[in-house]
Amino acid sequence: MAVRELDQKAKHPGDLNNHSDNKVVIWESKMKKSPKPTLQTSEASARRKHQHAYRAALMGGACWLLLPCITWLTNSLGFSRIDFSQIALYCTIGFLIAVLQYFIFKYFYRRESNRDYRLLSMFALGSHLLVVIPMIIVDAFSMWTVLLITAGLPLFFAFLGLHFGFTISCLVGWTLILVAEQFYQFIPHSKMTVDTATFELFFSTWLCMTVVGALVNGVHKKRKRLMVQWARAQQETTRILEVRNREFDLQTEALRRVNEQLHQKTMVDALTQLANRRRFDDYLQAEFSRIGMSGTDLERREETGGHLAVILIDVDFFKSYNDTYGHIQGDECLKQIAALIQSIPNRPADLIARYGGEEFVVVMPETDIHGALKMAARIKDTVASERIPHHSSTRNAHVTVSLGVSEMQYCGVRTVSALLASADKALYEAKAGGRNQVVCAQPSEVPEQRQLPGNRGEIN
Ligand code: GH3
Ligand code: MG
Ligand code: MG
Repeated sequence: MAVRELDQKAKHPGDLNNHSDNKVVIWESKMKKSPKPTLQTSEASARRKHQHAYRAALMGGACWLLLPCITWLTNSLGFSRIDFSQIALYCTIGFLIAVLQYFIFKYFYRRESNRDYRLLSMFALGSHLLVVIPMIIVDAFSMWTVLLITAGLPLFFAFLGLHFGFTISCLVGWTLILVAEQFYQFIPHSKMTVDTATFELFFSTWLCMTVVGALVNGVHKKRKRLMVQWARAQQETTRILEVRNREFDLQTEALRRVNEQLHQKTMVDALTQLANRRRFDDYLQAEFSRIGMSGTDLERREETGGHLAVILIDVDFFKSYNDTYGHIQGDECLKQIAALIQSIPNRPADLIARYGGEEFVVVMPETDIHGALKMAARIKDTVASERIPHHSSTRNAHVTVSLGVSEMQYCGVRTVSALLASADKALYEAKAGGRNQVVCAQPSEVPEQRQLPGNRGEIN
């Protein structure tokens, strides 16, 4: 995976992304382990069917109660010759089956059980048929029977069509018609028995109804299947998109970290780990602009105080140090001096940087010349007190530094380069004065009201 490679690459320079890779793996394994998405649509439809099933059972119970009335009517009209004592028994059994069916379905519906309600429905329907068949026989296949079949069988096929689709319901339906027709020819015909022509008329009618019903159900079922497929595809697409988004986020995060690291590298000096020259230049320019020295914003300059001090530090006789102890030891010495300068307490806004070679610089915003000179003296003393051996030094037996201090307001300079030039000039004077000295830059335009620390501000 691309992000893994990216993280691997990023590991080498600074081992910044070692946890990012783990994140990907953990997250991937989570995605793999997560169960397949369940379909809201099919779940909802199953619940609806359960609901319909127990409502249908309730209606079935009502029908069994209505049946004696219908029987009375058909008896009165001469279509049926079933009597009430017989019908009462069948209707009671049918009613009890319907009630039982109602409670069973309701129980499964409430429990949200995954039990196959199709089997349950078929079982319930079959139990009703078991009651209906003896009724038909008792009725000797009269008009009442045909009415019962005409009403019941389309319902049965609608059920088949709903659950098994068009093909199966048609096949089962037609087979049953053929069997029933054959069967009907052999039953003992009485006066009450419907003649074959009428029977076939009824059968053809509900055959057509069944076919149409099954067709509608088949189409409906297919439509639902397509919708489920579509929903599944949608879910899969969403899942893939989530995966991609996550990968993208991780890649972005890894890139951001690498970028941050690179940015950091461009700002830090590799040897001393201090800020490098580029960082120093940017910082000085930014501070210069912030205190309002770069423009004519005098009000702002008043607000901020307009102080910006710079200390240039140069290691004395460093060439001879290298010549005596070698460049590797020279590097170590520079590192040591950098650490010493850093160890001196300073303000958060102060920036200590390597200016170049064996030179360092300190930028001190909001610091007047007195503060800058104090800091410079502390640097000088700290380095000297470390007593790093330097036997080839013509002045001391240990490493010392010379410092040139300049401050914007005090020196009356108005540009960054002028500020640096004045600090450099002071450093040159410190060198000329014998080294291991702090020299304050001379003011070029001295404001009258300002108290000066001394004509040359020299501290030995
Ligand atoms: P001065 O007291 O007048 O400053 O004399 P100096 O010898 O310190 O100054 P000079 O400019 O003559 O020499 C600077 C030396 O610093 C030359 C160079 O070998 C050494 N130097 C500059 N950068 C590095 C560095 O990164 N590592 C090491 N070991 N030496 C460096
Ligand atoms: Mg130098
Ligand atoms: Mg030097």
